[in-house]
Amino acid sequence: MGASRGQLVIMAPLSGVLVSLDSVPDPVFAQKLVGDGVSIDPTSDVLLAPVAGTITQLHKSHHALTITTAQGVEVLLHIGVDTVTLKGEGFTALVHVGDAVTVGQALVRFDMDFVARNARSLLTQVVVANVDKVSRFVPATGLVEAGQSVVLTLELADTEPSLESVSQDLVLGDPVVLPNPAGLHARPAAVLAAQAKQFQSDIRLVLGTQEANAKSLVAIMGLGTAHGDVLHVKAQGVDAAEAVRCVSSMLAQGCGEEAGAVPTPLMPVLESAAPMLASTVKTLGAVTASVLTGVSASPGLAVGQIVQWRAPSVEVVEQGGTVDQELAKLDAALAQAHEQIDALKSTFKDASQVNILAVHQALLEDPDLLEQAIQVISKQKSAAFAWQSAFINHAERLENLQGSSNALLRERGKDIRDVGGRVLGLLAGVEHRQATLPEQAIVMAEDLSPSDIAGVDRSKLLGFCTVSGGATNHVAILARSFGIPAICGMDQAVLSLVPGTTVVLDGDQGLLYTQPSAQVLSQVRQRIAEQADLRAQEKRGAQAPASTTDGQAMDVVANVRNLQETQEGVAHGAQGVGLLRSEFLFDDRASAPDENEQAAAYMAIAQALGPQRSLVVRTLDVGGDKPLSYWPIPPEANPFLGLRGIRVSLDQPEMLRTQLRAILRAAPLVQMHIMFPMVALVEELRQAKAILAEEQKALGQPRVQVGMMVEVPSAAVMAEQFAREVDFFSIGTNDLTQYTLAMDRGHPKLAKLADGFHPSVLKMIALTCAGARQHGKWVGVCGGMASERMAVPVLIGLGVRELSVSVPAIAAIKACVRSLSLTACQALAQEVLQMSTSAEVRARLASFAEGLSPHASLR
Ligand code: PEP
Ligand code: MG
Repeated sequence: MGASRGQLVIMAPLSGVLVSLDSVPDPVFAQKLVGDGVSIDPTSDVLLAPVAGTITQLHKSHHALTITTAQGVEVLLHIGVDTVTLKGEGFTALVHVGDAVTVGQALVRFDMDFVARNARSLLTQVVVANVDKVSRFVPATGLVEAGQSVVLTLELADTEPSLESVSQDLVLGDPVVLPNPAGLHARPAAVLAAQAKQFQSDIRLVLGTQEANAKSLVAIMGLGTAHGDVLHVKAQGVDAAEAVRCVSSMLAQGCGEEAGAVPTPLMPVLESAAPMLASTVKTLGAVTASVLTGVSASPGLAVGQIVQWRAPSVEVVEQGGTVDQELAKLDAALAQAHEQIDALKSTFKDASQVNILAVHQALLEDPDLLEQAIQVISKQKSAAFAWQSAFINHAERLENLQGSSNALLRERGKDIRDVGGRVLGLLAGVEHRQATLPEQAIVMAEDLSPSDIAGVDRSKLLGFCTVSGGATNHVAILARSFGIPAICGMDQAVLSLVPGTTVVLDGDQGLLYTQPSAQVLSQVRQRIAEQADLRAQEKRGAQAPASTTDGQAMDVVANVRNLQETQEGVAHGAQGVGLLRSEFLFDDRASAPDENEQAAAYMAIAQALGPQRSLVVRTLDVGGDKPLSYWPIPPEANPFLGLRGIRVSLDQPEMLRTQLRAILRAAPLVQMHIMFPMVALVEELRQAKAILAEEQKALGQPRVQVGMMVEVPSAAVMAEQFAREVDFFSIGTNDLTQYTLAMDRGHPKLAKLADGFHPSVLKMIALTCAGARQHGKWVGVCGGMASERMAVPVLIGLGVRELSVSVPAIAAIKACVRSLSLTACQALAQEVLQMSTSAEVRARLASFAEGLSPHASLR
């Protein structure tokens, strides 16, 4: 470091308490690989500029950015730890790369509640990335106030010119496919830069036409890399060859990121295709990428051509005619929009699709919305101007709601924009978008509304990708009901892909392959055709019962959330409902449903099944990951270990009584079963059963079977004792895995490890079946494992006799059962119970499936 050339004061970007970098739970910050500075435990949620300068880097997930000051000091701000995995959810950037910012200017707004729940830590780092510019760091301590307190004082150094000769030959490395799921974000970039700094040579990372200094963290992040990008390392200097070798190898190994975090395509063909796709990478406008990632919104595989979708612009004149004239225009536009939506509704078969459009029609009559528009019209404004200001205001109110429990309401804000845009188009004389699609279209859009999708020729739409949106988005729901793959939350880069380009869309993995080779395309097409044949074959056998080759009957029933899914389940061959998630009646509303409303819903479902089929209603299972807006659970340090499932019901016995009465009223219509969730103690079961017995007595003893979910280890370990007091068990493998392995079921980093195929979970299932057997009780599985073909032989072998699966899986699971022999399954189960790891179990189950008919081996 050279002599001092002045000071730089860094102000607090957030209010909170300062902590030293070495206490940050991330080695790249704690070991100062990223740079030197401080960390803040924040109490405010808007990140302010701590120095004046230019935004030189803004991560696409908006959790990290860099400001470069006039002296060339790079100040990196990184909100939280592991926040890159949130893929931008919870963050709103208020600036862009290239913006000049002043001290105290708002940079990023973030949802503290959401980030705190979903990231490893909220600790926010303020570090100088190019430490060679600084001769001394003087950090402050204690409480700081955003924009007011100093967090760091820097004494700046004179940087000395490099004396290094660059006359040596340029060395170019082999292409490396980036394995990091979120590209080179702060952590891997810091590890890479630290490695590059070990060499004297000038080292560059090359991505298409862009280049970055491999020793500069900021430059690396500025490349905006994504998973699957192909990079080259090039170097020039005395140790260039060694530098290229080491830096390339570090890149290929993920720069310290766990291999397990890499999203691996499920489809073997795409797995083998990734390197082939990558090797043909070429630049598409501003985008260089062969595989773009997003969030899976609807599963499936498609090969098609890119169609770019843009909203038409609507010009709105502020000044209107007379108040009466403008009111008449608004009335007419609302009526016309209503008719248009009616016409769209008639083109849909599926109830979920019709419901979405019904919500839109209800919004057209929303009194608040209309009142606001009328008020604006009364100020001599045009109907279009008034309507636009009213619906945007309403949409923003919903979209700005904070907290993870408001995710659905934020999505409803989009519905208001959608239907609002339709009316506005009518007022302004612009037709609502009715795109004419070419054949085999895969649509790329910033956002899509249900109206956009509803109006297209569905025989031509094979799938879509949007930059915005999530799995609760209505258009994601529509895509699932159309059975087409879709990905949400994609990088803006998708909007620059050249129309007409042939791509592969893998909705299961949330991957878009933008440069597939001819060989890959033909493999994928073959795969799609094989899958279609298989599905058709399975469908033909869907309505028949399923038994093993040696005569063991298995009940294949459906997991559903409402009447419509029940009807679909029956149509797909379900022998009943093995899990009705009754939460559907309680979600997304302002108050709890009363007994009559609940009874009507259960009766409709019971009627749809009829007296020959079984219905297992699970009582309300909220708490933990399932919040209820009108029932505020006081904050808990460990919500998954707090008030959840049956504990909530026993805490609110009136709510439980109301629900039980409503279920009992539907009992004569079906083979009714009542099941309690999250039971951990025999006392809980007894209390719940006592309440049920009282309500049964009051209603003249309607017949029901009473069961419980086995989803915590105590229930499995004590299955024999529990079996004395219930008629059946249903194993919730989702939670049972979480609680057996002590791994959060929604944690992105633990997703691969929290595996129901782990021998410990299989042992829990074995214990449950053994306990039930002692008292002649039956066992079902309603967790996600039951829908996995690979799990079916081991579940049958362990003693499970009912598989409650997602509706689309019914036919395939029945076909799988028919290909198995009970005796072989029992031997297999005993074998895998002796194994030590999930990988061993999976490998054995895979080889077992290979030995079966080609049908069963397709996993
Ligand atoms: C389970 O835990 O496996 C289960 C079926 O319940 P849920 O996924 O609704 O918690
Ligand atoms: Mg559960």
